[in-house]
Amino acid sequence: MAAAQTSNQVVLKKYQDLPQQGSIMAEYIWIDAEGGTRSKSRTLDFKEGGYTPKDLPVWNFDGSSTGQAPGDNSDVYLRPVAVFPDPFRLHDNILVLTECWNADGTPNKFNYRHEAAKLMETHAAHKPWFGLEQEYTLLDLQDRPFGWPLAGFPAPQGPYYCGVGAGKVVQRDIVEAHYKACLYTGVKISGTNAEVMPAQWEFQVGPCEGIEMGDHLWLARFLLARVAEDFGAKVSVDPKPMPGDWNGAGLHSNFSTTEMREEGGMKHIEAAIKKLEGRHMEHIAVYGEGNEKRLTGRHETGAIDKFTYGVANRGASIRIPRETAAKGYGYFEDRRPASNADPYRITHIIMETLYA
Ligand code: ADP
Ligand code: MN
Ligand code: MN
Ligand code: MN
Repeated sequence: MAAAQTSNQVVLKKYQDLPQQGSIMAEYIWIDAEGGTRSKSRTLDFKEGGYTPKDLPVWNFDGSSTGQAPGDNSDVYLRPVAVFPDPFRLHDNILVLTECWNADGTPNKFNYRHEAAKLMETHAAHKPWFGLEQEYTLLDLQDRPFGWPLAGFPAPQGPYYCGVGAGKVVQRDIVEAHYKACLYTGVKISGTNAEVMPAQWEFQVGPCEGIEMGDHLWLARFLLARVAEDFGAKVSVDPKPMPGDWNGAGLHSNFSTTEMREEGGMKHIEAAIKKLEGRHMEHIAVYGEGNEKRLTGRHETGAIDKFTYGVANRGASIRIPRETAAKGYGYFEDRRPASNADPYRITHIIMETLYA
């Protein structure tokens, strides 16, 4: 594939303010079979006050082209679930996050949102808050991490985490543009930082309550892929992009409920950790593909076959933040999920293990 023609972005700006004569552009976004996002656009009438998901038409796509349906019954329906302002087209244009449904009225195989949303509704009284830390690696069009030498390796890890300065971090422009795009749309991004492996970054989303966690993380992933496209970069969520003495990439999942956030919350946190311990392998099964390459017990991870927890311990499955231990209430961090895990599956199984 040819390199992106970034210079055209300047020309494109010329057209951005052309009046749309009573129409808007709606970009329908869905999650595909590979854990990526796909999208396509349609024109809708301008609506005073804006659209909510229930005002938006159900649409469809050819599921046989994305591995989401057989060729002889290829229509997959897109049901709108959340609407955001479009940071690329601006004005009244919108992004529409959707769920995939089959023609027979059942959720598509890759629709992990539907069941998760039902469970969140059932246990809404606990006010479950999630905060996910999305680690990712930026690659060039030849799939090489930016800034790595053509032959050999960068200097060992150490200077890169939260690094400042040339030779320590690369592609900060992408991180900054993505941060702005998230703020514009209302995605609850809570921060960003450069990671331990060179060319690796992180953004955090949260706290979000219930199903909003998956919705906002997926939209943030879409925005990152779209921003990186403008810069001619690829986003990898491979949990172990570079073999050897390099950190992998995770999706640390921070969690709390009303009970845990109040005075005396620690006993609820401890009870939750006991329950998580009893279903360790069930969680690992939905915490991402290739996670065994990352959860080795080295590079700030716990071993995949062993459940451990501890205060301020970054080599454990579950970490209780120092501040939570000191105050006696707060939240805990599940460090097991891989960077490529589906946030709907993570938040679903945490609720299932603790409350179902
Ligand atoms: P780390 O020290 O593990 O790198 P980060 O600062 O990157 O932590 O991420 C912490 C995440 O925890 C953020 O997404 C934040 O929104 C989330 N968080 C903070 N408080 C809570 C809470 N009470 N319940 C759930 N998530 C929380
Ligand atoms: Mn973090
Ligand atoms: Mn991190
Ligand atoms: Mn973390």
